Amino acid sequence: MLGLRRVVVLMLVLGLAAAFGCSQAPDKAATGDTAQRAVAPEAKKDLLEVVKERGVLVAGVKDAVVPFGYVDPQSNQIIGFDVDICQYLADKLGVKLDLKPVTSATRIPMVAQGSIDLAAATMTHKISRDDVIDFSITYFMDGQKVLVKKDGGIKGAADLAGKKVGTAKGSTSEKNIKAVQPDCTVLSFEGYPEAFLALKQGKVSAVTTDSTILLGLKNSDENPEQWAIVGDFIAAEPYGLGLPENESNFRDFVNASLMEMWTSGEYKKIYDKWFGPDTKYYLPLTWQMEIWP
Ligand code: GLU
Repeated sequence: MLGLRRVVVLMLVLGLAAAFGCSQAPDKAATGDTAQRAVAPEAKKDLLEVVKERGVLVAGVKDAVVPFGYVDPQSNQIIGFDVDICQYLADKLGVKLDLKPVTSATRIPMVAQGSIDLAAATMTHKISRDDVIDFSITYFMDGQKVLVKKDGGIKGAADLAGKKVGTAKGSTSEKNIKAVQPDCTVLSFEGYPEAFLALKQGKVSAVTTDSTILLGLKNSDENPEQWAIVGDFIAAEPYGLGLPENESNFRDFVNASLMEMWTSGEYKKIYDKWFGPDTKYYLPLTWQMEIWP
């Protein structure tokens, strides 16, 4: 027979087990939420190991954002600054790089669902975006402006009251422009080329996003002299690589690689290739990567 004290102790232990064991949120693998985790079916496994075993790093990049990620008309391949960052990571892992096109609206769901291992896609690290994915340290720094028709009388966001402004669906610019110019109407397009086309067709008075993306639109156009990037910066946009939640080894690898890229001078090489003074998209490198000792 169990003594009363023993019974009480047993009940306490069972009660605690129930409280702690059963109140944990069901894990994603157990609930089948990982059905779409195409690149990491072994969801319980560390992603860094999964990528090494697979021999392929699957990266989400833009395919229509010059010069970050766009289709090279010669090779028909996606090339750009973000692609080179991903290539560096893949080389360091000794694996192949597989690129999947993403848009501003699809990149976060794709990282969250596991259909890509990471997103290198002109993505600003916002605290609000941290709810569903994680981010690397800042690997690129920009700010937002507006692109307009040259000599059209618009010199900045203040002149956009009552006007239509185009940008990409899912971008930070949708809110940023409203914050500085509540009286404009934001039209969100699939991507920036579509927003720029609307500007050319007179359907919007301006396109707003990160200044380098605007520079990419302007200077890859047939008539760059017809367009102007105007006004002050309306928002700061520190880019982070989008990473899956709770993949600490993978995140450590990515962060350490970015820092190594910076300290070895490789970052500057890649940066200058796309944004150096000899390019069409010159953006002086005025910030420093966070380097952990
Ligand atoms: N960096 C901004 C963002 O993450 C704008 C560029 C983009 O749409 O990718 O939303």
